[in-house]
Amino acid sequence: MKPFLEIEELSVRFHTPEGIARAVDGVSFHMARGETLGLVGESGCGKTVTSLSILGLIPSPPGEIQADKIFFEGRNLPDLSPEALRQVRGQEISMIFQEPMTSLNPVLPIGRQVAEPLITHKGLTKSEAYEHAADWLEHVKIPAAGARLNSYPHQLSGGMRQRVMIAMAMVCRPKLLIADEPTTALDVTIQAQILSLMLGLKEELGMSVLLITHDLGVVAQMANRVVVMYAGEVVETAGVVDIFDRPFHPYTRGLLKSMPRLSTRRHARRRLTEIKGTVPSLIRKIHGCKFSDRCPYAFEICREAHPQLLSMGQGRFVRCWLKEYPERRQNV
Ligand code: SF4
Repeated sequence: MKPFLEIEELSVRFHTPEGIARAVDGVSFHMARGETLGLVGESGCGKTVTSLSILGLIPSPPGEIQADKIFFEGRNLPDLSPEALRQVRGQEISMIFQEPMTSLNPVLPIGRQVAEPLITHKGLTKSEAYEHAADWLEHVKIPAAGARLNSYPHQLSGGMRQRVMIAMAMVCRPKLLIADEPTTALDVTIQAQILSLMLGLKEELGMSVLLITHDLGVVAQMANRVVVMYAGEVVETAGVVDIFDRPFHPYTRGLLKSMPRLSTRRHARRRLTEIKGTVPSLIRKIHGCKFSDRCPYAFEICREAHPQLLSMGQGRFVRCWLKEYPERRQNV
């Protein structure tokens, strides 16, 4: 069976005065229908650029996209005309952004913003679209939804604005939802409400979700599979249970160790461990492993040759020389 979404050898470069930044460097992954895939990594690892490339939203110049394929339901998206791609965007693939205050139009009432995709993509009349908009605002649990249609984004709390963004993304009942750090700007209680709302809607609409986040706690709650990105590359892909129980790549291990955990058991309490250093410049050409400057297990070959993404069986892939040098793994 053909994957629902299949990305092969996606590269995105930005031409800057300092040089060419390789924001995404040969990324490949796929998604099945109904699956939630977590795309994780620190800021600057290429997660958002990857998702914007799927939607054809990278401005060119300065951006330049190359891909062997970005197949969505059997169509190669880069081959579509701008009009056909616009139809896919919003109607079949929707996106929720991280910070609703900068994504919602501050000078338009929220009712109009939720109704707009129904008028543009579904050909509904204004009154029909507003009726649906009110239903969706109620669906995402905005209190007194009908009366809120004429409210402006600044009149709502952060959690309410994020619910409006979810309603906007859902009104056309998309097949794929791309959620880019959907809860990062929210406090934990609202975060839990938004995640449970998204899970409920995913089940109800049977859609697939590409969840972009640096928060592994969110991934644990939502995802079936995980793709870990570092400096524009995929470094590990595995089912969510394997990622948490048997992480292989030192970067994945570092992310997990830096994840706060609550425990009442004294011996289980521990200091958070940070991954020392920062993501390397995307302009600098690195010959070896891009994580080698920060990796506690780096050895000679790591700095000399670039590791390939290798299969570990059962749908798992890892990009690390430790896979090929088992004797080195004893220290890990
Ligand atoms: Fe660390 Fe080497 Fe593996 Fe890179 S290839 S993650 S430097 S052990």
